[in-house]
Amino acid sequence: MIKYKTKEEIELMRQSALLVSKTLGMLAREIKPGVTGLHLDRLAEEYIRDHGGIPGFKGLYGFPNTLCISPNEQVVHGIPSDKPFEEGDIVSIDCGVLMNGYYGDHAYTFAVGEIGPEVQRLLDVTKESLYKGIDQMRLNRRIGDISYAIQQHAESHGYGVVRELVGHGLGRKMHEDPSVPNYGRRGSGKKIKEGLVLAIEPMINMGTHRIVQYPDGWTIKTADGLPSAHFEHDVALVNGKPEILSTFYYIYDALGLPTGEEDAFRSRPLSLEDY
Ligand code: MG
Ligand code: MG
Repeated sequence: MIKYKTKEEIELMRQSALLVSKTLGMLAREIKPGVTGLHLDRLAEEYIRDHGGIPGFKGLYGFPNTLCISPNEQVVHGIPSDKPFEEGDIVSIDCGVLMNGYYGDHAYTFAVGEIGPEVQRLLDVTKESLYKGIDQMRLNRRIGDISYAIQQHAESHGYGVVRELVGHGLGRKMHEDPSVPNYGRRGSGKKIKEGLVLAIEPMINMGTHRIVQYPDGWTIKTADGLPSAHFEHDVALVNGKPEILSTFYYIYDALGLPTGEEDAFRSRPLSLEDY
């Protein structure tokens, strides 16, 4: 059953989403060759607790860490390790928090140093497909419209769309109804209504869409060993339109990148009180 949120709940969820966003922004300043996932995991846990949150993934279904860190051919659910990142790696980091009773859930795929143009294109197209999906989150459209837009964009570039792992409703639970697949048919699925809050999160592979799981019972990797990217925003339906609650602003600020891409999906600009 879908739990629609009130305006007050959405404001609380915005705070949770901003805390995960700031956590990823903090990590963006740390990611470089030689750094380990375990180091980032410790930094993130400390940062979240210092800012009044609780790591949302740690202990959830038994997951051992604060961050899911999935380099290169790993898709999602990677366990932070002591293996140093290398120049040219990509690293998908997924972060959850629980604050004021509501979850935030946010992911970004980072480049470690300089990456090749083919891999950069995978990152760009995956992020574009996220925004194409968000743009379909409009009153009385359907979940399948989001799914279709993501799939069309990714596949038009020859990429594989992961089937087994999907976006989801978000709220007092990390995973609520409805599921938001990254593939599907236009006009199918549940109708989108006011107060719906979704975590939309395309997981896009450079090659085959097929995946396999590591013996650790968590880590998902591509079946062909080619790289995979993952970007995730928390989005609420407010006044019939998508309102992005999370933000890549802090990451772009850290990396010196332009910050305007979310502006079309935000009713008010980020203000000083958000810092
Ligand atoms: Mg996530
Ligand atoms: Mg999620």
